[in-house]
Amino acid sequence: MKSTMQDAPLLIRDIVLRGEQIYGTKQVFTLTPQGVDVASFSQVAANARRLANAFARLGVSADTRVATLMWNTQAHMEVYLATPTMGAILHTLNVRLFPEQLSFIINDAEDYVIVVEETLIPILARVRSLIPSVRHIIVKGHDSEGLLGDVLNYDELLAVETDHFDWPDLDERQAAILCYTSGTTGDPKGVLYSHRSTWLHSMASTVTNSVGLSESDRVLAVVPMFHVNAWGLVYTAFMAGTDLIMPNMLFKGEYLLSMIEQLRPTIALGVPTIWNDLLRAASEKTTSDFSSLRGILAGGAAVPRSMIEAFKERHGVDVIQGWGMTETSPLAAVAIPPGASSPEEEITYRAKTGRIIAGIEVRLKDVDGQALPWDGVSVGEFELRGPWVTGSYYHGQGSESFRDGWLRTGDIGTLDAQGFMVITDRTKDVIKSGGEWISSVDLENKLMGHPAVFEAAVVAVPDDRWDERPLACVVFRSDQTATVEELATFLADHVVKWWIPERWAFVESIPKTSVGKFDKKVLRASYAAGALEITQRS
Ligand code: ADP
Repeated sequence: MKSTMQDAPLLIRDIVLRGEQIYGTKQVFTLTPQGVDVASFSQVAANARRLANAFARLGVSADTRVATLMWNTQAHMEVYLATPTMGAILHTLNVRLFPEQLSFIINDAEDYVIVVEETLIPILARVRSLIPSVRHIIVKGHDSEGLLGDVLNYDELLAVETDHFDWPDLDERQAAILCYTSGTTGDPKGVLYSHRSTWLHSMASTVTNSVGLSESDRVLAVVPMFHVNAWGLVYTAFMAGTDLIMPNMLFKGEYLLSMIEQLRPTIALGVPTIWNDLLRAASEKTTSDFSSLRGILAGGAAVPRSMIEAFKERHGVDVIQGWGMTETSPLAAVAIPPGASSPEEEITYRAKTGRIIAGIEVRLKDVDGQALPWDGVSVGEFELRGPWVTGSYYHGQGSESFRDGWLRTGDIGTLDAQGFMVITDRTKDVIKSGGEWISSVDLENKLMGHPAVFEAAVVAVPDDRWDERPLACVVFRSDQTATVEELATFLADHVVKWWIPERWAFVESIPKTSVGKFDKKVLRASYAAGALEITQRS
């Protein structure tokens, strides 16, 4: 029997219209080298309509790809709102890609317009002659050196348009946003979110059992807007009436700390390397004020327990760990403790990767594709299904990542009866020593608990006897050091003996991917090329 309920489409348009109507006075703060620009949601929405008029005049219509090469700013937000709402497709370009990757992605997407910020013009200029589909470049700021040839000016375009635009009726399954994986483990692949998936993902981010964003929140959006849609923040903020603080390109710990102290966010979102740097910046000051924060959402890479403890003990801030991928919009699991009996137990819950959120189905598979139990012990690959999980890649690439309607995440770990997942590795990063797996993530997390260690990344390297063994690459805190024996003894208290690496490299910094994760591909290549100075444990 069919239900009697209405079949209302879930459109980004309705998030935008309602957000302006109900939360019009909510604010967006954008940091600039001169200070802070403040705009209301009403102003941002009105600018989005002006921009839609300008886009239409330039020939943007249904399915036209509009790319952005921008930091976290108000203008970027306006493009986020205008593009999908008018029926076109927003494509966010990662500002840290190499020129070959950038031109590859622009050509793969067949972008027609690119909106670029003044400071990023040199990056676009390097590939300008290689991207024939791009008909219009719109600059926020000025191309004073004329590096890009013919360009349009963002503010001038908006200044001559009215703020009246009739957002069209669309099919909720229509493509709205195109994001590429950041290519940590291979070539970037495109994922096309729909209006429906974006709407549902936004709703999921407002649920108390997940991030629970609401009108009482003010978010510090440190996750870049070119990385998985800034975890959906713009749309969620408009849906929930949440103020946004946009740090522009100012991601260093010192800047973040002063934003936290002055603009008083209730929650901050970003990858763990950023939060590690914030802890460092705070430790170099005599006082710091974190009192506005109800939490820091850390995701995109494993969050070391020592970091969770440091935020709680030193600053009284709860770290909320989240897990997801470009393929999952990204929010799929959030580690909210289900009522802990002690502070110690609470940290143990927070140190898990995440608890699968409503709307996402998960299963754990062994190497032969057999289902594994949710017992918190069996280790396998996570597979996911759900309305904001992709069912394929753009242009049909990467079909091996899908198995009877489920996404194979390439993440390995355990799942317990309460739905908490713990990731021990990515399939491409696992260390197989004598036929047994060693968790690089576990070793890194334990090492980063040593007081002298600032960062640690562990990768597999070939070994004659064991096939593969772990190589630990360690960055010390300034003015601190430790010997290999000291670090090995420290690890011996936390992991089984045969996991402890024989090979160690003490490095100035760990190479990072374009979104700030440890770049293990680069570490493995440096080792293979003999570019790392190795200290061998006897
Ligand atoms: P890329 O795959 O290129 O790194 P994504 O940003 O889509 O780009 O990364 C998703 C991956 O990030 C996940 O598959 C997982 O390996 C890793 N990840 C995300 N959150 C966490 C987390 N909390 N703990 C461990 N790994 C995580």
